[in-house]
Amino acid sequence: MELYADIILPIALQPFTYLVPAELAGKVGVGDGVEVTIGARKRYMGIILRLHHSRPNYKRIKAVERLLYGGGLVSEMQLALWQWMAEYYMTPLGEVMRVALPSTLKPSGLSDKEFSENIVERKSEVTVRLHPRYVSDEAVLGEVLDKMSRRAKTRYGLMMKLLSRLSERGDMASEVAVKSLGGMSPQIHRLVEDELLVLGSRQVDMFATEGILHLCKGLSESQQYALDSIEAQSASRSTTLLHGVTGSGKTEIYTHLIAKQLEEGKSVLYLLPEIAVTEQFIGRMEECFGERVVVYHSKLTPSRRAQIYLNISHSDQPLVVVGVRSSIFLPIKSLGLIIVDEEHDRSFKQEDFAPRYSARDSAVWLAHKFGIRTLLGSATPSVESYRNALGDRYGFVELTERFGEARLPRITISDTRRAAKRGERKGHINKELHDLIQNALANNRQVMLFQNRRGFAPYMECEECGASIHCPMCSVTLSYHKSDHSLRCHHCGHRTPTPELCPECGKGRLLPQGFGTEKIEEELARLYPEARTARLDADVATSPSRYGAIISDFGSGKSNILVGTQMITKGFDFAGVSVVGVLNADNLLNFPNFRSSERAFQTLTQIAGRAGRTDSEGEVVIQTSEPENPTLARVVASDYRAMYEEEVALRELFGYPPFSREVLLTFRHNEQLRAEQTARRVAATLSSHPSMTIVGPYPPPLEQLSGQWLSCLTLRLKGGSASDGKRAISAALESLGKDKHTASVKITVDVDPQ
Ligand code: ADP
Ligand code: ZN
Repeated sequence: MELYADIILPIALQPFTYLVPAELAGKVGVGDGVEVTIGARKRYMGIILRLHHSRPNYKRIKAVERLLYGGGLVSEMQLALWQWMAEYYMTPLGEVMRVALPSTLKPSGLSDKEFSENIVERKSEVTVRLHPRYVSDEAVLGEVLDKMSRRAKTRYGLMMKLLSRLSERGDMASEVAVKSLGGMSPQIHRLVEDELLVLGSRQVDMFATEGILHLCKGLSESQQYALDSIEAQSASRSTTLLHGVTGSGKTEIYTHLIAKQLEEGKSVLYLLPEIAVTEQFIGRMEECFGERVVVYHSKLTPSRRAQIYLNISHSDQPLVVVGVRSSIFLPIKSLGLIIVDEEHDRSFKQEDFAPRYSARDSAVWLAHKFGIRTLLGSATPSVESYRNALGDRYGFVELTERFGEARLPRITISDTRRAAKRGERKGHINKELHDLIQNALANNRQVMLFQNRRGFAPYMECEECGASIHCPMCSVTLSYHKSDHSLRCHHCGHRTPTPELCPECGKGRLLPQGFGTEKIEEELARLYPEARTARLDADVATSPSRYGAIISDFGSGKSNILVGTQMITKGFDFAGVSVVGVLNADNLLNFPNFRSSERAFQTLTQIAGRAGRTDSEGEVVIQTSEPENPTLARVVASDYRAMYEEEVALRELFGYPPFSREVLLTFRHNEQLRAEQTARRVAATLSSHPSMTIVGPYPPPLEQLSGQWLSCLTLRLKGGSASDGKRAISAALESLGKDKHTASVKITVDVDPQ
């Protein structure tokens, strides 16, 4: 009977079926990488999804060319994850493969030669072992060595080095890397010629480490209690949420959990937001786990990523893989625990291209399916996770105090409008903050200043009073659209002409932006000439080394004021910081999205959490033109729970997630009307769906992008009918491809948009 293989290819298609030639049958398995051709000549690497005997009804069936990566390049667990992602995030399996495998592991080419040149292999190294004759007979070896010790000192030295390695391992027959004996040399060749040693080669195991090293710090009483309850709860639940205030020592708890997994011979995947994978953090991990720490992020070279992937797929060692969202795709064997630190962070969701997956939600899924444990940790959990924890779907553990002598900082709200009126404002810094900065500098302490100036989603601000303009129907600000000088709500589509003067104070002009970090840096130089100011944002942190230098200068005290964007909010642990200032919280409070209060609470709490992390009490000043904004009161009181309750009540009322599932469709075309009409048609097709709420079509914040016009639809799916709703959406989108008018409209699908 002929054998067939369904093969996933890294092009946006469903799997194709190929014939497995007789000579490969029995050699290939599910998850292996094989070479196949598509069309006349184009060659790709594909992954075997399934082996079977049913002949597909293609006219001509092509055969698999050769096996490239055997033994399961993609693990069974990974293949299951790919399939879940494809279905859940409404993406072809081929697109999942494209993202899941490092780029250089997916050779393609026109000729066999071109293809072969692109194949990456695991690095191998030269080894030597003792000639079998001497392994069992120590007496004979002793004689030989004795002679050598007198006549050939260098060779004798090499032999002794080798023997001590072998006896350390307790296996006189094992292989030793030539590299570890000082590299290949004429002496080693001579020993091989004399039949004392035998040459060999083996694939490099990047993670070869002997023994387990962990120097965890002892835990405080409340940390120990939290650790015990995490372990107790994970006996009955696959996912647990650890809600611990900033500085409570969550990282220390993680290290204890990791050590335990390693002892049991299991690996750990530790996921962090991109920006938080810093040298400071990696150092902390390596101190505990030595060479078992494997770091994986987007700044590594493609070939390094490929080597790590290949090595992980072969390694039986218990590892600690520290990485960003894409590490969820690493084929880690005997994975015991996934930690998602700062689980609320947006960067766990891929937004720019398909599959628009969430690494956090994938981790929760993996835990649920494969008996792994997932621990979500945050000082400011996402509303979704917290609700799951309260609802008993997740285990739930709280840490309410900072470690040691440290206390949560005192947070003051400072009114920018009032300060401006009274002349108590130096540049963009109110008197309260100014006094604290001077005080900190005088006492040799450090200051962090935060100004969130994101590139897009501009809003209008009055140059006189600092007010911004809100949508009458939604709790979001209106965005300025230059094309027609209008103000629009990106949530409901409300649109109004931009008024000449601020409707709040009737005096000031409305300006489309606030101020950025660069302007602040200039201002600081003027206000505090004695200070050493540094800036950290995307404009200056152009490379990992620039970024690292700015951080380490601040860590060592070379600079004493650090001004930056959200880059400075994440996970930093600087003992010298006593004052944190948020220069303008308004744009955080008014992000055009229903999650804006949650986000503002998270960002402000995280940035405040950088102050007073060790001894003295930290001081935080949040400047705003809306001091009465309820979210700020929650931040001041560190009252996550109250923020949560208010948010949940609102979302339930409006049917926002987690009370529904959102699917965001974006239609792009170079004719504005065509994009909008297509969106309208899909909305009409779906309008009869019983459990779907349709919002739009509406223009996104950036309605014109690279010459394309964008139009959006937000679909809210209620209750357990999500997969039913998704099916209806897929069907509606498929039908567009059959119509000339709509076939050229590009559509992106984002499930659970952030
Ligand atoms: P979190 O991640 O919850 O914000 P960290 O794990 O960064 O908190 O801990 C805050 C600070 O307290 C760090 O400097 C850390 O080294 C210190 N710390 C926390 N727990 C301990 C402990 N058990 N022993 C010694 N130092 C600790
Ligand atoms: Zn609105």
